[in-house]
Amino acid sequence: EHTTQVALVTGANKGIGRATAEQLAGLGMTVLLGARDHDRGAEAAAAIGGDTHAVELDVTGPATIRAVAQQVEARFGRLDVLVNNAGITGSGPVSPADAVDQVPSTVDPAMVRAVFETNVFGVIAVTNALLPLLRRSPSPRIVNVSSGAASLALASDPDGPLTRLPASAAYSPSKTALNALTVQYANELRKDGVLVNAVSPGFVATDINNHTGFLTTAQGAAVVVRMATLGADGPTGGFFGEDGPVPW
Ligand code: NDP
Repeated sequence: EHTTQVALVTGANKGIGRATAEQLAGLGMTVLLGARDHDRGAEAAAAIGGDTHAVELDVTGPATIRAVAQQVEARFGRLDVLVNNAGITGSGPVSPADAVDQVPSTVDPAMVRAVFETNVFGVIAVTNALLPLLRRSPSPRIVNVSSGAASLALASDPDGPLTRLPASAAYSPSKTALNALTVQYANELRKDGVLVNAVSPGFVATDINNHTGFLTTAQGAAVVVRMATLGADGPTGGFFGEDGPVPW
């Protein structure tokens, strides 16, 4: 039996996912570094070192999801931690303050669909494929990497911190939907001891925002890792940032 904890991080070839993989590996976990591009995943896994292995995983690709689940089953027989990190804004590498192509009144519904495909439906597909393996863990944890932009409480406050962003019909609602799913999964899986939480990493300098964020990827990954390593008495069905709970 594989003795160290096994974690899978989606979209881990760069950005917050990569920093999360690095920190989990640093804790001594076996880390499966998900990447849709084989070579970029392999490079990142080699750079991180420890017991880190690249796995080819496109969260919108059912065949790759099935293959990863089969691989995890064959090699480890279970999964302890799933970090659903892979995500897109739909607007390419622009600051969210400049993502004018997702303003509700002019947005292309195809773009909304594509963003939900990755940020929402991809999470359902990956989670459901891996749940049978998570159920074999003595301490299963699921972390959904959401965003402060998901918060309806903040978005509906006309004086709130999100007013600096243009209104969004794609990215922000996709993360709100991810938060909603987090609560529903947590409710279903509470009796099985699976802790499921959403996190807001803060505004992190990565390709997703053309490096306009002010936090490092290591700083953004800290809350992800905290929720991935919760003890048995930890919360489930919550939304957390570095400073504590984030309003829904
Ligand atoms: P990056 O663009 O640096 O990383 C995104 C990762 O997701 C990449 O590895 C990318 O792979 C991967 N990805 C995208 N689509 C897919 C897919 N279909 N299948 C598998 N992997 C995919 O951005 P961040 O690190 O900033 O973003 C990570 C998460 O953090 C996202 O969910 C994002 O929404 C969230 N977030 C980020 C914030 C920030 O300030 N940076 C703030 C709030 C939330 P590839 O290299 O192949 O494109």
